[in-house]
Amino acid sequence: FQAEDGIRDVERSRGLGDVYKRQQTSRTACRAAHGGSNPPPSFMELKLFNTLTRKKEVFRPIYDKEVRMYACGPTVYDYAHIGNLRTYVCEDILRRVLEFNGFKVLHVMNITDVGHLTSQADEGEDKVEMSARKHGKSAWEIAEFFTKAFLEDIQTLNILKPHIMPRATQHIKEMIELIKKLEEKGYTYIIDDGVYFDTSKLKDYGKLTGMNFEQLNKYLKAGARVPFNPQKKHITDFALWKFSPKNVKRQMEWDSPWGVGFPGWHIECSAMSMKYLGETFDIHCGGVDHIPTHHTNEIAQSEAATGKKFVNYWFHCEFLIVEGRKMSKSLGNFYTLRDLLKKGYKWREIRYLLMSAHYRQQLNFTFQSLDAAKKSIERIRDFLRNLKEVSKEGVSDEFNKLLENARNSFIEAINDDLNMPEALASLFNFISQTNKLLKEGKVTREGARKAIDLMLEFDKVLGLKLEEFLEERELPEEVKELIEKREKARKEGNYELADKIREEIKEKYKILLEDTPEGVKWKFLE
Ligand code: AMP
Ligand code: ZN
Repeated sequence: FQAEDGIRDVERSRGLGDVYKRQQTSRTACRAAHGGSNPPPSFMELKLFNTLTRKKEVFRPIYDKEVRMYACGPTVYDYAHIGNLRTYVCEDILRRVLEFNGFKVLHVMNITDVGHLTSQADEGEDKVEMSARKHGKSAWEIAEFFTKAFLEDIQTLNILKPHIMPRATQHIKEMIELIKKLEEKGYTYIIDDGVYFDTSKLKDYGKLTGMNFEQLNKYLKAGARVPFNPQKKHITDFALWKFSPKNVKRQMEWDSPWGVGFPGWHIECSAMSMKYLGETFDIHCGGVDHIPTHHTNEIAQSEAATGKKFVNYWFHCEFLIVEGRKMSKSLGNFYTLRDLLKKGYKWREIRYLLMSAHYRQQLNFTFQSLDAAKKSIERIRDFLRNLKEVSKEGVSDEFNKLLENARNSFIEAINDDLNMPEALASLFNFISQTNKLLKEGKVTREGARKAIDLMLEFDKVLGLKLEEFLEERELPEEVKELIEKREKARKEGNYELADKIREEIKEKYKILLEDTPEGVKWKFLE
């Protein structure tokens, strides 16, 4: 897996045409593999909650069936924690639901490798430079290392890779151009430490928060932990370009018409999103913490520069919390994906947990909930394996009806603002009802095949790689030998030894033996 190549590869393909073409090929291949799926009925149109209007709206992209979507990516100074990853999983569900609805998505996610300061108020240290000092590496090495780690993490969680992942440090030229435009239009002023955006110049500054300019100023002043730079005209004004400090040599800095320095974090996302998606695009995503500052400022500078609406739909994911508080690096209450994998949890269980709550609701992280996710995955796995075993001939109309209802309620749930708790509830309801029919011997081979297909169709949204549960698995040679030894023991009436062997196989190989009238059967527990 070549993370870096992936990024360079997409950056090389300048025009959107290439990206679409590539996507088209993979979609055709995918459709062929799954045998095609019918688009959802039109009465179940996709509805999304839009932070900008504070309403659930029917989603309509600018270009017919094509969707342009931007997600604020990671600041690459450390490993992502599972709170960050919750946001990326929810965005992945959004993309999958869009694709499920037949939209062709162009997904851009940036990499913030410069300019994100430790304080939101344009103060403090650059996170990447700070991490470089801590680890005794260069800022460039740190950014490289954690970009790669991030790409590995999203691949582990089966998050679809964004088509373009532009890095901030490779778009300084575009950022300077954008700031020049804002300067020409009279939106900027210069103070000791940088070039700032005058937020009072924009008539609807703050609209994403539902507050007007005065209310937002008041709100931010009340919440400010440190007094803001007295040279700033308003607390809401923000840095477009920061000058390198006089007494410290920065590792990442560039020449600009205003002096040597580096870009502000907000201008990065405006420059990169508009470069790849156009001046107005469909969806912009991120965590809810981005609403009052980062996204509000992205809107301000983009709309000031172009005079056009920046984004039609704003999608925000709520926090993952631990004991009532946001999981965050600064509170030290975080787990990385790697921490949880080391504890023996599987990627599927972690992905399942992160996507199982509604994205607009906080998700309280506990190990009990992770264990519950494990149980849910096991239930799905056993269900699929049982379906595979069905050999009864015939057709059942009753079962066909059940399949149709299950499909409809799943789609209804996902299209209702990605209601994953509902979607999963309908999936498990389907499993329970089918299990009952299986027990009664009322499911035929054809029905079972359709049920498997339906689960695989759901999995286009869930992203749990369910097809892996259906793969044929060979018993290891040692287990075959142990089973023979156990059979012999049983025949000789040595049940104590037989039980011991059964336990050994379960513990060591995670394979459960079952004695049935047709002989011994086994089930892989993982
Ligand atoms: P950062 O790397 O700090 O820029 O954060 C990356 C993404 O994770 C952003 O979209 C944040 O809004 C989001 N985020 C940060 N903390 C949490 C959390 N505890 N739960 C969910 N999302 C979070
Ligand atoms: Zn951003």
